[in-house]
Amino acid sequence: MTKETVLIVDDDTRNVEFLRDSLLVPSGYTALCATDGEEAVRLALTEEPDLILLDLQMPKMNGFHVLEALNRQGREIPTILITAHGSESVAMEAFRLGVRDYFPKPFKAAEIMAAVERSLTEARLRRDKEELAARLEQVNRQLEQRIEELTILYGISKSVTSLLDLDKLLARIVEATMYVTRAEETSLFLLDETTQDLQLRSVQGVGDREARPVRKSTDNAVVREVMDTGRAALIPTAGTHESPPPESRLAVPLRARRGTIGVLHATRKMAMEPFSDRDRYQLSLFADHAAIAIENARLFAEVEEQRSKLETILIGSEDLIIVTDELGLVLLANPAAADAFSLEMEGMIGKPLLEVAGSEALDRLFDLPLTSNGVRSLEIPLVDGRTFHASLGPVADVGWALIMRDISHLKELDKMKSDFVATITHDLRSPLTAIQGALALLPELGGLTGEQQEFTERAMRNVEHMDTLIRNLLDIGRIEAGLEMEMEPIRLDAVIEEVVANLLGGARSKGLVLQAVVPDDVPPVRGNHTRLMQVMTNLLDNAIRYTPRGGKITVRVEDAGEQVTVSVSDTGVGIPAHAKAHIFDKFYRVEGAETRELEGIGLGLATVKSIVEKHGGKISVESTEGEGSTFYFSLPQVEPESD
Ligand code: ADP
Repeated sequence: MTKETVLIVDDDTRNVEFLRDSLLVPSGYTALCATDGEEAVRLALTEEPDLILLDLQMPKMNGFHVLEALNRQGREIPTILITAHGSESVAMEAFRLGVRDYFPKPFKAAEIMAAVERSLTEARLRRDKEELAARLEQVNRQLEQRIEELTILYGISKSVTSLLDLDKLLARIVEATMYVTRAEETSLFLLDETTQDLQLRSVQGVGDREARPVRKSTDNAVVREVMDTGRAALIPTAGTHESPPPESRLAVPLRARRGTIGVLHATRKMAMEPFSDRDRYQLSLFADHAAIAIENARLFAEVEEQRSKLETILIGSEDLIIVTDELGLVLLANPAAADAFSLEMEGMIGKPLLEVAGSEALDRLFDLPLTSNGVRSLEIPLVDGRTFHASLGPVADVGWALIMRDISHLKELDKMKSDFVATITHDLRSPLTAIQGALALLPELGGLTGEQQEFTERAMRNVEHMDTLIRNLLDIGRIEAGLEMEMEPIRLDAVIEEVVANLLGGARSKGLVLQAVVPDDVPPVRGNHTRLMQVMTNLLDNAIRYTPRGGKITVRVEDAGEQVTVSVSDTGVGIPAHAKAHIFDKFYRVEGAETRELEGIGLGLATVKSIVEKHGGKISVESTEGEGSTFYFSLPQVEPESD
């Protein structure tokens, strides 16, 4: 690197030559020489040396005059003064005029060179500092500008992200693009997800105050490419054209979480400055916010649509629908529900369901255990006389959904059926008794032939079977009416023992193992002995009938705290899933070859259920078709004080 330039000024050419040839040039400096003041000023102004070695005493224009002339021109060139006539006043004047160093003649070469080196180093450092300060100031200015731009961008983005109406939002984005890019025309393209068609959705030109909504397929190649690659395009690329291009185009992708959803496009005409990388960067930043806003607006529209569909269903439903949170506070109730509880819909929201509904049965429903299909269900009578079938199920992250269906008409039908059966059975018994009597008298009219005897006995057997059926029907009627149900403490282990003893013969003859697992200290239940015998007999009789040869039947009793639980398991034909819900209905029989072969009218389990419920108990069944069934029933234990 070449060193700095030093201007030597002295009217004594020997001095000049010495300084130049012996000191400065050998040390690598460039030396300029002047032998009078005027030449010195001229050279200093034209050549701009880095340092001046200045003699004070010169004819016409002395060293001070040179310094004054340069100061007047605004030049501050570091100067070392060399003089043969040094005095304090000279030194003072020299420093006032900005002289860095001062040497009396004769000077020592080493001292002069050290001073030259020092002055130039100082000058270098000062220059570096000034350069650095200038650079810092420039960076600062750029930063301030960036902050201002980003603040504007942030403001625009924020105003956009708060919009939820998609068409208005697209218009706002296009208008903001116009502002961000100072373009002449801006447009927004969105991909139609179902048809995969890229459509122009909003556009604004210079003359338009607002963006215009459109819906038109596009074959714009630049837009297509940005959509496909997900990368911004700036056309033409800076510096590729010698003459100004006809127009400058900028297209950036609208990127959402699931990929590119569309493209923002801006155009500037020839007369304007083409788009820069900076424009691309800014528009890309804005597009990221815009894409999120579009996604939000779309999601909002979807949710709104779902909500309004749901609302239509809820409003139109005749079923009572109520949704509560985990604590049972009402979140949603349809008009049918509000109507049933004689309340205003809004009045129910936020209140505890059990409080607003004021139904004891509903309280009980919430306490029931969940069934295998994850709901609780119960018949609930309302004060207006209607009966509802209620089912309560958990809704993940929300709470509970209660659906209540009016089954009053079904209950009515059921009652009519029971009344009808009761009347008919009662009326059938009298003629049947007459037939029975007549058949019994037949032999007394004279000896019957063998064949006559056989027909009479067959008629008699069928009449007896009919009588049993009628008695069963009458029986269930009586149980349902709660007749003949005197209650007393009963030991279920004793009942089981008696019934097992009665049926053991039948089971064995069919090649079945029948066993009872009964602990010693089963607590007593409150019950009716005859009816509980009937329950055990029906369940065991079914188990024996519906279990093929070689099977096993097990009866178990358990003390379950406040209840005694009995289970009857078999390894028989089992019950198909669809039949489980109906198995306890009157006259219901599972369709199938096994059932068809066996006698029965489907009253056994209905009778069992009726008796268990009249005892305040519960009955249920678990079964796998082809593997076997287990019937469970539980009855409340006798309370301690009634022992
Ligand atoms: P039924 O007189 O037909 O036996 P029930 O009321 O006792 O009438 O039973 C109703 C239906 O339930 C039966 O027809 C049979 O299909 C089915 N069922 C009852 N108990 C069992 C069992 N232990 N195993 C398989 N199916 C059974």
